[in-house]
Amino acid sequence: MSLQKIEKVAVIGTGTLGTQIALQAAFYGTRVTAYDPDHTQFERMLKMIRFRIQNSGKKATPAFEDIPGTAKKIILCSSLEEALRDVDLVIEAVPEDIPIKREVFGKLDAIAPKKAILATNSSSIPISKIESATGRPEKCMNIHFYALEIKQGMADVMGGTRTSDDTFDQGREWVRSIGCIPLAVNKESLGFCFNRVWRAVKRETLHMWADGISDFQDIDRGWMVFTGMAQGPFGMMDNIGLDVVYGIEMVYYEESRDLKDYPPEKLKAMIDRKEMGVKTGKGFYTYPNPAYKDPSFLKKGTCR
Ligand code: NAD
Repeated sequence: MSLQKIEKVAVIGTGTLGTQIALQAAFYGTRVTAYDPDHTQFERMLKMIRFRIQNSGKKATPAFEDIPGTAKKIILCSSLEEALRDVDLVIEAVPEDIPIKREVFGKLDAIAPKKAILATNSSSIPISKIESATGRPEKCMNIHFYALEIKQGMADVMGGTRTSDDTFDQGREWVRSIGCIPLAVNKESLGFCFNRVWRAVKRETLHMWADGISDFQDIDRGWMVFTGMAQGPFGMMDNIGLDVVYGIEMVYYEESRDLKDYPPEKLKAMIDRKEMGVKTGKGFYTYPNPAYKDPSFLKKGTCR
């Protein structure tokens, strides 16, 4: 039997990621409705996305080349009832908090048509912690998008304890249909697919630095030469915010209780000194002109 196609999607929460997902989906021809209790968010986020693209100095991905034109295709709704009318899929992108997500999923389940798949865009919460707030666990899943505006879009796709194969496949095919690469996660996993890879890089490099094995700039140099990227893991962590990185590492530690997963005290000390990266002007590097942007950075090295 062929899979039922996802044609109409509701995005719930039009913050940083919800707005990007709505634009990406609308550009590729999905009919999109969106709802956020804060009606000013959508316009604010459109401006922020344009700023982020300009500031990156990179070319926008196709869905973000004409943001006002694409935004016109999205129907902004003033109630959940209106947003959920006749949808095939709901993408929830509300704050990263289990009680909030469970409350929202309970409402989605009560209002959305029975055929609708309910997906969370959460960065860390597996759907198994949310699905029981609904009466349709077989239609619940994680679809976790990575920032879409300047990089090829991709999304982790993961089921919960009772997600049906059809639900998983429909979610995965929809991700593909909107120009993104689906990364299938076949067993529940904290960090999904690629977040887990990135997390391994963070854990390893942070401990190498904290244990005095290599200078963080040499680790970044190695990464930049090896991958051809314009910055290394420490530059990237400065972008994210070292407090956010620390918080995420603690989530992994709480899960494993393995001391190898505990983030280094030296990282905590930086946060206590308000050295949190780009947002405070200092992290591993100093901003707005971090050393890795210097054309001679790769050649310098820290060897004695
Ligand atoms: P955000 O704070 O930018 O946006 C959250 C939005 O949800 C806000 O506009 C808020 O008004 C709205 N909201 C709050 N309560 C609501 C409710 N009850 N119903 C509907 N809307 C509600 O957050 P974000 O960064 O977009 O994150 C949203 C989700 O996406 C989180 O689960 C996060 O983990 C995930 N995510 C974020 C990123 C990122 O880079 N920011 C990346 C991947 C995944």
